[in-house]
Amino acid sequence: MNRLSDIGTIREILTRHGFTFSKALGQNFLINPSVCPRMAQESGAGSGVGVIEIGPGIGVLTNELCQLAGKVVAVELDKRLLPVLDETLAEYDNVKIVNDDVLRLDLNQLIAEEFPDMEVVVCANLPYYITSPVIMKLLEDRLPVKAITVMVQKEAAQRICAEVGSRMSGAVTVSVNYYAKPEMLFGVSAGSFMPAPKVDSAVIRLNVLPEPPVQTDEALFFEVVKAAFSQRRKVIANSLSAGLHRPKDEITGVLTKAGIPLNARAEALKLEDFAAIANCLEEEA
Ligand code: SAM
Repeated sequence: MNRLSDIGTIREILTRHGFTFSKALGQNFLINPSVCPRMAQESGAGSGVGVIEIGPGIGVLTNELCQLAGKVVAVELDKRLLPVLDETLAEYDNVKIVNDDVLRLDLNQLIAEEFPDMEVVVCANLPYYITSPVIMKLLEDRLPVKAITVMVQKEAAQRICAEVGSRMSGAVTVSVNYYAKPEMLFGVSAGSFMPAPKVDSAVIRLNVLPEPPVQTDEALFFEVVKAAFSQRRKVIANSLSAGLHRPKDEITGVLTKAGIPLNARAEALKLEDFAAIANCLEEEA
């Protein structure tokens, strides 16, 4: 539908359908006409490519994706939006709406059923209340997707795209970098949404890696990362001892064996350091 990102058009559609925004579902709809075409372009959507969208809202990004992609499957939890999407996407025959909670959906099964033999990408303006769980689910489920292009709050984007081992690095930075190479694409002001949120946003792309960059016991690796950042101001020997519930002298031995200074802080460690700690812990067991 033409001019779907025009605020007048959006207001008219929403009023006609008696739609009221749900804060609990993170409903801030895009009203800046330049954002969706750019996001769709950057996502890798193209002929022959399948796209999974999460939370299409009234379909403003979906419209752009349908124009570029071979097929789009959009997962929307709010069933009040289904009649709206029927109307706004009426002209496309390459789109399917799935009325479900993305966190409960088997996305590997969805991809196998909906996109056989197609390259697949994810593109979404994510509901902010579940940004991290959705991103981690998309990565942990090991979906056969090439890239995940998402709009998230600016601070979350900066944290995810920080260099591992730098001051801005956190558990989410390390976890995402285990599965993908994150890239900051562009910023989006709070005024680009209706209703306007309190903070700005940014679009990032996670270029999914064929293999993790380090070899390690995955469960132990993530336990170490979580423990290390649970008290990020503490030195690593203390945060690991507390977070992993292991005696300090055992942790000191592990860190020495892994070549990590006992007074380092979690934010200074690289992916290889967390893997070395996990591998030494495994040898101890
Ligand atoms: N894509 C639209 C846009 O850019 O204008 C809407 C984005 S809005 C930030 C987030 C959307 O995600 C809403 O449509 C909301 O109803 C939907 N949503 C919220 N929680 C969801 C969930 N658990 N599973 C699927 N969709 C969800």
